[in-house]
Amino acid sequence: MSINDLQASSDFIRTIVANDLASGKHDQIVTRFPPEPNGYLHIGHAKSICLNFGIAKENTGARCHLRFDDTNPTKEEQEYVESIKDNVRWLGFDWGEHLYFASDYFDQLYEYAEHLITTGKAYVCDLSAEDTRSYRGTLTEPGRNSPFRERSVEENLDLFRRMRGGEYPDGTRVLRAKIDMASGNMNMRDPVLYRILHASHHRTGDTWCIYPMYDYTHPISDALEGVTHSLCTLEFADHRPLYDWTLDNLPTPCHPRQIEFARLNLSYTVVSKRKLLQLVNERHVAGWDDPRMPTLSGIRRRGYTPAALRSFCEKIGVAKKDSVVDVALLEHCVREDLNETAVRVMGVLAPLKVVITNYPEDRTENLTAQNHPQQPEMGERQVPFSREVYIEREDFMEEPAKKFFRLAPGREVRLRYAYFIKCEKVIKDETGEIIELHCTYDPETLGGSAPDGRKVKGTIHWVSAAHGIPAEVRLYDRLFTEESPDAGGADFKAFVNPESLVVLGDCLVEASLANAEPGSRYQFERQGYFCVDTKDSKGDKPVFNRTVTLRDTWEKEKAKG
Ligand code: ATP
Ligand code: MG
Repeated sequence: MSINDLQASSDFIRTIVANDLASGKHDQIVTRFPPEPNGYLHIGHAKSICLNFGIAKENTGARCHLRFDDTNPTKEEQEYVESIKDNVRWLGFDWGEHLYFASDYFDQLYEYAEHLITTGKAYVCDLSAEDTRSYRGTLTEPGRNSPFRERSVEENLDLFRRMRGGEYPDGTRVLRAKIDMASGNMNMRDPVLYRILHASHHRTGDTWCIYPMYDYTHPISDALEGVTHSLCTLEFADHRPLYDWTLDNLPTPCHPRQIEFARLNLSYTVVSKRKLLQLVNERHVAGWDDPRMPTLSGIRRRGYTPAALRSFCEKIGVAKKDSVVDVALLEHCVREDLNETAVRVMGVLAPLKVVITNYPEDRTENLTAQNHPQQPEMGERQVPFSREVYIEREDFMEEPAKKFFRLAPGREVRLRYAYFIKCEKVIKDETGEIIELHCTYDPETLGGSAPDGRKVKGTIHWVSAAHGIPAEVRLYDRLFTEESPDAGGADFKAFVNPESLVVLGDCLVEASLANAEPGSRYQFERQGYFCVDTKDSKGDKPVFNRTVTLRDTWEKEKAKG
């Protein structure tokens, strides 16, 4: 999807919700966001969060629950619960009183299981995992009934209670729904409802040694909470008959409607917790919050704003067909937001020293710079100017190319917020590398123009040598070199972009950034948007993450030739 191909902000799910309110089917809308606490949230989850919490925000009296789907004790951790809560809040949403855990319902889920047994809808099956698989059949062949399918209600109840009592080892028995082994939908071939697992749960401890399956837990949790619209991604469409079967066969307080939408796929990255975990474990990235990661903690550390993510989710819309969204759209959204809100400062990433030979050695001037030239209400600040300044190495060319309008021998340019300078002499070391420029300045040009009306074609940024603060700058690029690194089951890790992180250790930023708060965001004029790293930044050596570049017209000109 391109930036020019955006959908309207309403979508088929919001239409269903509006119709259900208009028809009186519901007078209050309840949605939920149901993460499994087995990893960190990623940008795909942001889509689901914005949809579920967004619908709750848009409709009076509506609410959205945050529910941890914690039915898998071996993979889940409290650490993930905390980070997920933090991410949802950071995105700007609030579940109020409505924080739930599927494990809160373990007693009720168990009672309902006994109800299914009593009504002849569930049975205990002793088939081994292997036999269960072979009895299940294939997509083209029907399955066969388990030899344990016709057990009496009494025997099933007795066995199920003994399963719960801890009498059997893991994997020896399961509770299955009695539906239809010949169903064209594999999910309906007597799916497992409960399994034996002698494992400690992060909330219920050792109370349980049998745990309910997701497909059984989810509809019941929704119903117990009074959810009206249970929104999930397309891969659950085939599970919907089981969702409905479960609720049709149990005396739950209501029967929510499951609606599926397309998951978010983003170019040049992967959005699956399992794959992200591999990147972390195999040390392709520094951690879950590595600023290259499409996790919410990574994106946030990189400097993306919650408003930019919400705007992105609004722009991509919600549809029924899977698609890959261009990561350029995400970059567009953060640029759009930071363009409005970020203070402009000067930082030199690859410094080249300039000595202004006719400027007094002992003088420092405090020059006035605007924090945001298009938004005067954002105020002004002082930037110190002195005889020696650093400019960007690439703002000088000894033999200027066509259309290069910046500094060159004999040429005059404007120093942003300061004076015109003219390059008089290029100083090189014995290897021929340029180490310093000698320039002169025109004291009449403070403020950006010359009294005699002569023009300069270039304006460049700079930092005073005596006042600049040494900084580390981390430049990030796309994590993968391929647009769809995991297409067709490819080993996506082979496509990790070796240049996705470039660390520049010798940068200089203007003095006003001396004690910049971790997490604060700036535009380095002409360079891009940067954010003070929240983990590695130190007072005397700040670390800046490049959030996103500005569009570079010079690069475009260069490409055109
Ligand atoms: P993953 O495949 O990355 O492990 P998941 O679906 O297993 O993700 P859950 O914690 O179960 O992760 O997801 C919580 C909610 O977020 C679910 O409702 C799920 O449908 C939704 N979700 C997950 N990934 C995406 C995505 N890429 N786009 C939109 N919604 C998503
Ligand atoms: Mg999942």
